[in-house]
Amino acid sequence: MISWRSLCHPPTHPIAFPVIKSAVPTDATQPVTLSNRIKDHARELGFDQVGISRVAHDGRDQPGKRLHEWLNRGYHGTMNWMPRTAQKRADITEVFPDVRSVVSVAVNYYTNYVPDETNGNGRIARYAWGDDYHFMMDSRLTAFAAWIEEEAARGGTRCETRTYIDTGPILEKAWAQQAGIGWIGKHSNLVSTTHGSWLILGEVLVSLDLQEDEPTPDQCGSCQLCIDICPTQAIPEPYVLDATKCIAYLTIEYRGPIPQTFHADIGNRIFGCDDCLDICPYNHNAVPSTEAAFQPRPIALKTDLRELTDQSTIEFQTMFKNSPVKRAKHEGLQRNVDIAGSNAHPSTSLHAAITPKRTG
Ligand code: SF4
Ligand code: SF4
Repeated sequence: MISWRSLCHPPTHPIAFPVIKSAVPTDATQPVTLSNRIKDHARELGFDQVGISRVAHDGRDQPGKRLHEWLNRGYHGTMNWMPRTAQKRADITEVFPDVRSVVSVAVNYYTNYVPDETNGNGRIARYAWGDDYHFMMDSRLTAFAAWIEEEAARGGTRCETRTYIDTGPILEKAWAQQAGIGWIGKHSNLVSTTHGSWLILGEVLVSLDLQEDEPTPDQCGSCQLCIDICPTQAIPEPYVLDATKCIAYLTIEYRGPIPQTFHADIGNRIFGCDDCLDICPYNHNAVPSTEAAFQPRPIALKTDLRELTDQSTIEFQTMFKNSPVKRAKHEGLQRNVDIAGSNAHPSTSLHAAITPKRTG
């Protein structure tokens, strides 16, 4: 999947962050101890991966440069919040001027099910099979940040924190790579050697110098399976995503009629696309998550388009309450279902192929 959550963060080349020397405190044992306790507590709270990076305050700006290049190519499409927040994304101190360290966390959302795609059934991207991860991540990150502040206070140090998930203007994949959680693969998603790409990311920005981890090196090597598998050639070069061609963008973020040229390649996908992740060798050993929020709803494992066609707004809101699918909105999902239905029944649209249940 490149989900809408991924699209909120522009793809970048692996990033060389500046090495920080000057901010190392004179008493190095305290931040090491606190950093270790922070990482232990992250795991106790249910985060599957955690790492720490340090923030430079000297104006060097590698991620920002690549972000602006990507925006200048127009690859963000109609996601206008990206250029609007580009300066903040490029410089984390614009988000939180006192930030000294970023604690990156990740939660595994992989569940070991194979959806029934026979009989013209549709397909929903894996991250949207269960509940909207924002609720779980938000409460867990809030508790984590409060704990960090209290733990620092217990050691006689006052600190402030800010929490972010993908709705905030943070280059979270770049920070996760810097914190040693994984690297940004050629499809522009994060890849972890332990959890593949099935990870929801979050960050706690901390106003303390913590002990940083080693960044994860790029381990794609000569592989380019994700580039070759993409049905719409949305990866024009390694590490660069043209979101305007990506099925995740088209079926989730894009409003209005999807250009005809993409209809056949959309196939049976009605919300997002997982092809470039499913093919990645690092995803083949993924360990299933036990998180209740990620367990699939029945509609995700058997996406019967007849059940969704001509669904009323109220029916849509009921079926997808607290689901990431709501992001596409009722009109968007109906548009996608119609395209997938037409692909399943090429001689006619699904609306004409079955009896409508109800409208509006
Ligand atoms: S359209 Fe291509 S880039 Fe987008 S999610 Fe699918 S395979 Fe990945
Ligand atoms: S499929 Fe290959 S090139 Fe793409 S992210 Fe995975 S390892 Fe890297």
